[in-house]
Amino acid sequence: MQTTPVEQLYTLFNETALRLQEELGCSYLEALAETGENLFQDTILQEELSELTSKWLKKQYESIHLHQFKNEEIRKAFQLVILKGMKESVQPNHQMTPDSIGMLMAYLVSKFNKEPAFRILDPAVGTGNLLLTVLNFIGKQVEAVGIDIDDLLIKLAYVNANLQEQPIRFFNQDSLDPLFIDPVDAVIADLPVGYYPNDIRATDYQLKADHGHSYAHHLFIEQSVRHTKPGGFLFFLVPNGLFESEQAGKLHDYIKEHLYIQGLLHLPENMFKQKHAAKSILMLQKKADQIKPPKQALLVDLPSLSNKTEMDKMFSKIEKWLQENKG
Ligand code: SAM
Repeated sequence: MQTTPVEQLYTLFNETALRLQEELGCSYLEALAETGENLFQDTILQEELSELTSKWLKKQYESIHLHQFKNEEIRKAFQLVILKGMKESVQPNHQMTPDSIGMLMAYLVSKFNKEPAFRILDPAVGTGNLLLTVLNFIGKQVEAVGIDIDDLLIKLAYVNANLQEQPIRFFNQDSLDPLFIDPVDAVIADLPVGYYPNDIRATDYQLKADHGHSYAHHLFIEQSVRHTKPGGFLFFLVPNGLFESEQAGKLHDYIKEHLYIQGLLHLPENMFKQKHAAKSILMLQKKADQIKPPKQALLVDLPSLSNKTEMDKMFSKIEKWLQENKG
């Protein structure tokens, strides 16, 4: 039976990672980053390996010609092996953004950003899956920056980007610390949800809680806005209860002062294991002198993303809204 390109790459990543995991005594995800780096550098970087393993790895890598694969094939295969590794051990807040959400975000980013070239930031880049889905979809000249506090996830993101030859600049740091980046035209993020433990850093933010820990997802929104050009767009995957929490009052005031809400797209609840974990895509525009608010924000309850007929209707609705509100 013939294997698909994604299956071929999956097998290569998986089998070489398993061998590295065993011999280096590391986790599967760490081994995955190592094998991806070997493949990209076209060499065996781990000096401590036995000669037998080095030779075996070399043979496996030589059996694949990366340039013959499309970016999306590489991304999907890498995504599948990461998912396998994440089953071993990953906190819910560090999970990869699923493809269906990535594709939807990519579509929205492409509709709102019409310029031939622009700069985009993902301040919670994780494995890079969401950012790479967007970059592969857009296919135009985009300068991208990805930031994450988790050194293993960002290493996977960097390998993922290298294998797809997507020139992303990565920073391994707390995104709520000062960022040394140029202002961007667009921000995308699957926000980490919950309390931010660093109360001292939180005092730099208008959205800090009056008592106790602040919400990381609120501070992420404020930090993203600071680094967005006036008139730039921001797309966040947020919990459905974002505007109902006990800290929502400040968020409302902050949005009123700095942003225009473009839309809120509720994702279907059946996408999430638990109803309370359901999420929406919040679309915002940073205020600027010449920018007017939309006549009406786009409020949508998305159908099941696999229901093509219903999704087509939804896309027509979004297109109509864009024509009426964005010209
Ligand atoms: N979009 C990512 C992907 O496709 O892999 C997944 C994002 S995941 C839901 C949220 C990410 O936020 C995690 O990778 C986590 O390490 C990161 N994160 C949490 N707190 C952070 C902080 N203070 N600074 C930077 N990154 C942080």
